[in-house]
Amino acid sequence: MKKKLKLKSSVYYVLIIFIVGIFLAYFGINKYNEYKYHQTNEYKLTTIGYTLEDAKKIISNLSDDDVGYILTINKDDRILQLLDQKYFIKKNFRDYYDYVLANKKMEISEVIPIINCKVNNEYYSLDLETDMSKEDQIIVNKYYHMSSDYSPTDLVKVSMDYSWGDYGSVVVRQVVMDNFLNMWQAANNDGIYLMISSAYRSYQEQEIVYNNYKDSYGEDYANSIAAKPGFSEHQTGLAIDIFSKTNSNRKTFEDSEAAKWLFDNAYRFGFILRYPKDKVKYTGYAYESWHYRYVGKEIAEYIHNNDITYEEYYAYFLDN
Ligand SMILES: [Zn+2]
Repeated sequence: MKKKLKLKSSVYYVLIIFIVGIFLAYFGINKYNEYKYHQTNEYKLTTIGYTLEDAKKIISNLSDDDVGYILTINKDDRILQLLDQKYFIKKNFRDYYDYVLANKKMEISEVIPIINCKVNNEYYSLDLETDMSKEDQIIVNKYYHMSSDYSPTDLVKVSMDYSWGDYGSVVVRQVVMDNFLNMWQAANNDGIYLMISSAYRSYQEQEIVYNNYKDSYGEDYANSIAAKPGFSEHQTGLAIDIFSKTNSNRKTFEDSEAAKWLFDNAYRFGFILRYPKDKVKYTGYAYESWHYRYVGKEIAEYIHNNDITYEEYYAYFLDN
């Protein structure tokens, strides 16, 4: 009888130790998990004032380095506003945010195109070699240049029916010619006679134009009126200056029927107005109602419908 009791109490001991053990393990695991969670950026972001949802948004949209940086500063709603912008580019975050801090009165929506177009940098200060593998979509502007020996291999002469000057003086790439002819016909059906005044220009030709201005009026003036050699889109063979047979005046062309027709229709043939009137601060170029660039129909349509510059398109879709 006594032996039986003894056996019973040892069973109790084992049971109690077992229960306590389970409790301690459960408690320990919980504590450990809590400890682990407190080490995460998600938790740390909530401790400086971000909601859990915002913390998740920050983490999924930014690099670890950028999240680490955000943890060193006070909570800032402008960071969340930046993440909400349509053309937000992850790798540009610090540039956006630094610009926001330096330009406190500027709208967040304004900061994105400025940084994406690189115009927070002085013109010609970056000297980036453009990526030629982009072919029809290469970008050439005051930051990206082409090499001095680049010349397209498929240049064709534009007939004098569609261009001024001697035959052979106006040349474009084949793809531009094909699409321009379709556009010319469509415009002609609407009673408009398009004419090309200038198209491909070699590095050496641009050098002569630029140096003439520079020698006569100084570098600042030259920069305001002509692209530096290597930085002219005309060297791509994809840019054309288009006027009409009845108006080839740079000052008045913008008000002509032809300019309006081009503005509304060029995208259907793969061309974009490269330096629009309201985008000077993004393109770095004064409004040129005659300068069109071939980029292909799909991209031209997107740019036309979304009212953005090629700089913005390139940064977000082709260099992101
Ligand atoms: Zn031009």
